[in-house]
Amino acid sequence: MARAGGAAVKAALSCIDNEELIELTRDLIRIPSVVRPGDPAATEAAVARQVEVWLAKQGFDLEVQEIAPGRPNVVAWVGARGDGRSLLLEGHTDVVTEGDPAEWTYPPFGAELVDGRIYGRGAADMKSGLAAIMVAAAAIKRSGVALGGRLVLGALVDEEGDMLGVKHFCTTAIGRELDAAIIGEPEENQLCLEQRGVVWARIDIRGRMAHGAMPEAGVNPITAVGALLHELPALERRLRTLCRRSPHLRPPTVTPTVVRAPAQGIEQSNVIPSRARVLLDIRLTSGPDEPAVAREIDAVCRRAMARCPGSTVEWGAVSGFRLATKVERSEPLVRAMVAGVRQATGRRAVFGGVPGSTDGTILRMQLGIPIVTCGPGSRRIPHQVDEYVEVTELVDAAKIYVASALNFLQA
Ligand SMILES: [Zn+2]
Repeated sequence: MARAGGAAVKAALSCIDNEELIELTRDLIRIPSVVRPGDPAATEAAVARQVEVWLAKQGFDLEVQEIAPGRPNVVAWVGARGDGRSLLLEGHTDVVTEGDPAEWTYPPFGAELVDGRIYGRGAADMKSGLAAIMVAAAAIKRSGVALGGRLVLGALVDEEGDMLGVKHFCTTAIGRELDAAIIGEPEENQLCLEQRGVVWARIDIRGRMAHGAMPEAGVNPITAVGALLHELPALERRLRTLCRRSPHLRPPTVTPTVVRAPAQGIEQSNVIPSRARVLLDIRLTSGPDEPAVAREIDAVCRRAMARCPGSTVEWGAVSGFRLATKVERSEPLVRAMVAGVRQATGRRAVFGGVPGSTDGTILRMQLGIPIVTCGPGSRRIPHQVDEYVEVTELVDAAKIYVASALNFLQA
């Protein structure tokens, strides 16, 4: 049975205050939380503080965990796991840069509400999802409905970077006892049971420096770069045969994003450089494990090296492997959410997939728990100018979280 008592869900849904949700979302957007390395004032600190103060006012137990200077995770909870379950509602507090504000129709941190849409950096990704999670948890708390477990709320840092927030959270006591998680990233409130994985491969090629007039005296790493780029379509085809196909996700892709030779220093037209560097953005669907993917990249590097005698070609994963994630429809969390969407919106759940990775990727990889990504906002709008969220989607998200959480924790 994946459905809580209808009366309990109704009671908790009635405790959602739409105006409060809209205003909280706007307040969070108005606090810029673009992380700018080297600028100690440009972190998630101010927005995390706002989240902390708001949750404390609602009477949640909470913990602030400083992950790096000025970069705190805020973790709150209600109920105890006991013999029941522990469910995480997760959002991140950082946003990507607004770019050139002159390109925006509405000020990027103005949070203007126009024709049913809230505009601003983070409106979709993901101050709205974070606000929906906070208001949903508060509604459950206010309703006084007894929980057969623990509801945890995580407002974590650095999702847009190395995911330091969630990596740390996975090592904490409250993180380790989780049974499942809902990630509030912008997915049009679809239930995304799959996420593509990513590996950023940094390939370092070493040759031998020489005069351009006497190439025979050196080893030109650019020859290996050429061979490497030539191999990429074959690598992509190979990964597509190893990975499972998904109706919700594009197949694996291999995209060179940086090519640099010389790897450092100034350009000189008469000098063969000693080093070159290539960065690849490799997206994956579920199937192969880390060693299987690594073997394919190894093979490409070996072939490039063979085409450039005397060179060495080595690679490493920038920020580790983020493998694709997939959960089955039979998972209790998925069943709780399918019922929850119906109870909250009166509509059938729509399934989807996440084109990139999220904090959920780390939760799945490190804790092995099922995760579903579901949140308000178009999945095409993040990181663009004039980012927005529809208010109706925002309100629906809060309702879906309430009903799904109760179904999961009371079942
Ligand atoms: Zn995000």
